[in-house]
Amino acid sequence: MKIAKLPAEIQQLSKDWHEQGLKVGLVPTMGYLHEGHLSLVAEAVKECDKVIMSIFVNPTQFGPKEDYATYPRDMRRDLRLAYEAGVDCVFNPEPKDMYPQGYATYVKVEQLSERLCGQSRPDHFRGVTTIVLKLFNIAHADYAYFGQKDAQQVIILEKMVRDLNLPVIIRRVPTVREADGLAKSSRNFYLSAEERVQAPGFYASLLEAKRLIDEGEDSVARITALIRERIDDISLARLDYLELVDAQNLLPLEKIQKPALMAGAVFFGKTRLIDNIFIE
Ligand code: AMP
Repeated sequence: MKIAKLPAEIQQLSKDWHEQGLKVGLVPTMGYLHEGHLSLVAEAVKECDKVIMSIFVNPTQFGPKEDYATYPRDMRRDLRLAYEAGVDCVFNPEPKDMYPQGYATYVKVEQLSERLCGQSRPDHFRGVTTIVLKLFNIAHADYAYFGQKDAQQVIILEKMVRDLNLPVIIRRVPTVREADGLAKSSRNFYLSAEERVQAPGFYASLLEAKRLIDEGEDSVARITALIRERIDDISLARLDYLELVDAQNLLPLEKIQKPALMAGAVFFGKTRLIDNIFIE
């Protein structure tokens, strides 16, 4: 497995692969890999001849009071897991090589970036779309893989690809969960033992709402009230937001209309966990 630090190395590698007629897949991550990330790699390995994984904790998607400095990192372990999963090249740049002094260009998908998580993380998606567009221009991948765990993120990236005519196909990969339902996340590492015990209650409340919808309940007010109650019952949880929205434009719904997205964020102490369920 090759390890590259500089954008130019990846650009050359991808050019060589394309000249050999090979299909290239890209799996962008911030590292501290878990089975969620590895499921993206598994899809990429199935579909592509060569797989590039980027590991980069992207400073522009963190707010000033967020966890950029303390975000968990373990490059040795990540490299081993990437190798075992079948990654051909890890791209692990330094911030100064992605955002050199005087860097000034950002891309933002308007409206979608302001909804849901965008309300509590104002510049977050601008940072995501900027880094992902850079990664697309560096890796020239035919396919790129993103998790439904970050539902709003993949919806925004698909919109960016359509709006900017980017020559890449985005694949959505289902959320990988722990046995008790908690969505796998690098941030689960921050949870105290007690928080970890309570954290699956968040997904359980979404599942209960889904069951209600499956039984025919279509009032979004009633459904979200139920989830709020359930989350209130989790003593260490503090709800950031919970919304039921149209799965394409992310606008709030009054009555369930499919495809819908039920998405929320919950704080356990300082740790902010997100989760969602698509209603299709
Ligand atoms: P991150 O390293 O958290 O930025 O995530 C990198 C990619 O992995 C994103 O496309 C995420 O949506 C995806 N991902 C993270 N957690 C999971 C999960 N539990 N299941 C599936 N994909 C995930």
